[in-house]
Amino acid sequence: MTSSARPLLNRRLAEFGTTIFAEMSALALKTGSINLGQGFPDTDGPEEIREAAVRALRDGRGNQYPPGPGVPELRTAIAAHQERRYGLSYDPDAEVLVTAGATEAIAAALLALVEPGDEVIAFEPYYDSYAACIAMAGGTRVPVTLRPHEGSFRLDLDELRAAVTDRTRLLLINTPHNPTGTVLTREELTAIAELAVERDLLVITDEVYEHLVFDTAEHIPLATFPGMRGRTVSIGSAGKTFSFTGWKVGWVTGTPDLVTAVRSAKQFLTYVASGPFQYAVAEALSLPDSYFDAFRADMLAKRDVLAAGLTEAGFEVFRPAGTYFVTTDIRPLGETDGFAFCRALPERAGVVAIPNAVFYDHREAGAPFVRFAFCKRVGVLEEAVGRLKSLAG
Ligand SMILES: *Cc1c(COP(=O)(O)O)cnc(C)c1O
Repeated sequence: MTSSARPLLNRRLAEFGTTIFAEMSALALKTGSINLGQGFPDTDGPEEIREAAVRALRDGRGNQYPPGPGVPELRTAIAAHQERRYGLSYDPDAEVLVTAGATEAIAAALLALVEPGDEVIAFEPYYDSYAACIAMAGGTRVPVTLRPHEGSFRLDLDELRAAVTDRTRLLLINTPHNPTGTVLTREELTAIAELAVERDLLVITDEVYEHLVFDTAEHIPLATFPGMRGRTVSIGSAGKTFSFTGWKVGWVTGTPDLVTAVRSAKQFLTYVASGPFQYAVAEALSLPDSYFDAFRADMLAKRDVLAAGLTEAGFEVFRPAGTYFVTTDIRPLGETDGFAFCRALPERAGVVAIPNAVFYDHREAGAPFVRFAFCKRVGVLEEAVGRLKSLAG
């Protein structure tokens, strides 16, 4: 027992109780439901990359603290990947930093760049760590809501411009966007870049789904736009691209000043992480295009199975242009409250999903939306879809 009348959890974090994922995963277990809530693949990534990790571990590479910025092999591979895919050139020594997943990159960037009282603009619904990390940095989050428009969630550029004040320090961008599956277009990114330049804002861009874009969508890194390379902290991760989410290897690219600033915070968070895995990810990033193409094609097929099944079950489906999530509207099923719907769904249909409202400050704006993950084996998705058919009846 503590004697203090003061709450244990400090004011900065008080609003962030336990994540919905814990509650929903417990429900999945209790009810024997198929868990399409949490976004991790149910099959591991390439065997040769797993073997590369084993080899590194056996050869004694990375078993002791790796260098603070990351092992040179990985920093070189990250720079080569950015150059090959996007024509962005980064100096592996001064402009690349390896982190404990994108999660640490986001935290370190915000802790490094945000002064207490600074405003940080982020799209809502937002990835769940953003709000907590902005709060830990003492910043004030300013959500700009993505709204349904002709089958996808879109950014209102006027709303974004209006959200910028004299206290705005940075824009926290995520494309391809979790949970909506929206991929920002060249026009939208151009407008964001112009705004950042005009108002002299820093930008953190979370691009962990860069390799998961479908149909005609194209991922264009924000750092490639005029005036952006010098003000953008770009964040990537091996977890989603190579289906090794447990390895926690992420990275930051940016100018030497930006990378040095992020490293100042990062060095006191984990210092370093994932030693042997860093060598394996260096090999993964050097895989031929055929790996990335096959990965995308596989996820696309899974998206189509789930999207078709959800449509048949009566949901309105926002067909994602990227990521491995699909957001749905439950109102055609006669439902309005995503929380209540997701709490009841395991008993009703044996499937677990996540209410998007948890990713909003304006909870009412997210109330009727529910997210399903499709990074699961096709057989699992087909079984889930079969179960969900009972909702239509
Ligand atoms: C999964 C995810 C992350 C975290 O990536 P890790 O490398 O696992 O830390 C960050 N941002 C978004 C949008 C994600 O979906």
